Amino acid sequence: MPARVLDGAAVAQEIRGEVAPAVAAFTARSGRPPGLGIVLVGEDPASAIYVRNKLKSAGEAGLRADLERLSADARLEEVLAVVERLNRSDAHDGILVQSPLPAAMGADAERRVFDAVRPDKDVDGLHPVNVGRLVQNRAALVACTPSGVIELLERSKVPIAGARAVVIGRSDIVGKPMALLLLHRHATVTICHSRTADLPAVASTADILVSAIGRPAFVTPAFVKRGATVVDVGTTQVSDRAVVERLFPAGSKRRDAFERRGSLVVGDVHPDVADVAGALSPVPGGVGPLTIAMLLKNTLTAALGRSGGPDRSGGSGRSGGPGGSGR
Ligand code: NAP
Repeated sequence: MPARVLDGAAVAQEIRGEVAPAVAAFTARSGRPPGLGIVLVGEDPASAIYVRNKLKSAGEAGLRADLERLSADARLEEVLAVVERLNRSDAHDGILVQSPLPAAMGADAERRVFDAVRPDKDVDGLHPVNVGRLVQNRAALVACTPSGVIELLERSKVPIAGARAVVIGRSDIVGKPMALLLLHRHATVTICHSRTADLPAVASTADILVSAIGRPAFVTPAFVKRGATVVDVGTTQVSDRAVVERLFPAGSKRRDAFERRGSLVVGDVHPDVADVAGALSPVPGGVGPLTIAMLLKNTLTAALGRSGGPDRSGGSGRSGGPGGSGR
């Protein structure tokens, strides 16, 4: 029996439906909408699309969203100056610096810029203060993609407490916060990466398998226990026809999309996994829409926190779900 589809688009719609009236109430109370400042440096086409989508969704949700654009040859000091201006702005509750920054800015540029964002405006949850709060299960602002995955699992009624969870990928933005969020919901969590020995054997112990590596169709049925829930975070733009033909049969919707556009966004999970998994998030339409919905939610949370509202940063256990850490 093919896997149940975990419909990220529908869950994202549900979250937006909750955020919009809360944004309207905040706006009525404060005389201004929650504000988001997005910093985009350079001309990376994928980043430009992501930012356009974020601006559009923010506007639809009633948020104020401003784009700060800098050219690819901008100096790190210029980016830091824009962040500082947004830090001081009363109109901006959230700040997002679109990754990646141009390579010419230097290896530690992202870290320096992310560290410069005020923790209470850090809607990407990347500031060390927010990461520390996440470790302690008392974060208000958590990275959008992994918190979106939790929303998807919980609202799809996938049991997490007591489950064995395997996260493939250990990045600061997805893998590590993902593992912590699952841990705080009482899963038994294993984190895998490029040096993990016998990855299929480890992955196939999972009741919940989250893949966030960016390798198209890497996770084959050999990685998946029958009936497991599989969440595919990976997104890779594939333009190699041979790869697409190997994965998607002629006449299928995905193959038709490739024929129209000449490229296709492919997840980490091989299509054959649908025959083994109990539930599976698709690409596209899985985690992607949730990332944006959680950005809207985080901006609202930051606005409420800054205005002394109920979700004040550092409050108790928002990242830990209803049960918290149990301590
Ligand atoms: P990243 O920073 O490049 O991290 C990739 C991780 O995957 C690393 O920890 C790496 O291990 C691991 N990895 C790479 N190849 C591997 C292999 N063959 N076996 C096991 N582990 C391997 O990427 P990221 O930012 O976390 O993003 C991961 C994927 O998610 C990308 O495809 C990205 O586009 C996608 N993404 C999607 C959304 C969305 O909204 N849908 C949001 C964010 C990210 P090492 O640490 O050992 O190098």
